[in-house]
Amino acid sequence: MSKLEKIKQQVVECTKCDLCKTRTNSVPGKGNFKSDVIFVGEAPGRNEDKNGEPFVGAAGKRLSSALEEIGVTRDSVYITNVVKCRPPNNRVPNTTERSTCVDYLNQEIAIIEPEIICILGNTAFNSILGGSEITKYRGKVVRKDNQLYFLTVHPAATIYNQELIKVLNGDIAKLFYTIAQLKEGKKVTVDIEYSS
Ligand code: SF4
Repeated sequence: MSKLEKIKQQVVECTKCDLCKTRTNSVPGKGNFKSDVIFVGEAPGRNEDKNGEPFVGAAGKRLSSALEEIGVTRDSVYITNVVKCRPPNNRVPNTTERSTCVDYLNQEIAIIEPEIICILGNTAFNSILGGSEITKYRGKVVRKDNQLYFLTVHPAATIYNQELIKVLNGDIAKLFYTIAQLKEGKKVTVDIEYSS
């Protein structure tokens, strides 16, 4: 069993926080373990809870469309969430749930060693970098502890605000342009430096 499969198994069986009591299925990360990028959202929603897979609902379709626009398949990237079980009624996961679950995300990152981590939305931004106001900072490249991050809106936000579809698609295109530069060994512009 690979290291990622072990984490997946741990997530499936996890009872470390109260969200295990209300979930149908926990939702481990999924995708290419050799991916250059990990996409990280907030938490599973209704469809993800039902299926046990990340980003399979309407928001997931928006993310898939943004990737397809630039010729990237979902299978070629790795997609996960900060919190692996659905909070009741899709409420924002609380700080205890986030800090308890984030250990799994940290393990996923340590195994995959992505060139860049794409943070989707405010909750992931806050959980991973302590940030807020993603709409203000989206489209930017951040470096913290020698790890690069890219910030964009959560795909679910494009369902309620159609104008954000263009924003998400543009950001994803910029993300993959940045990845291409990194792969070619070129210097990329870091917009924000975080210190831990
Ligand atoms: S949310 Fe995370 S820590 Fe809580 S039960 Fe699910 S997998 Fe475990």
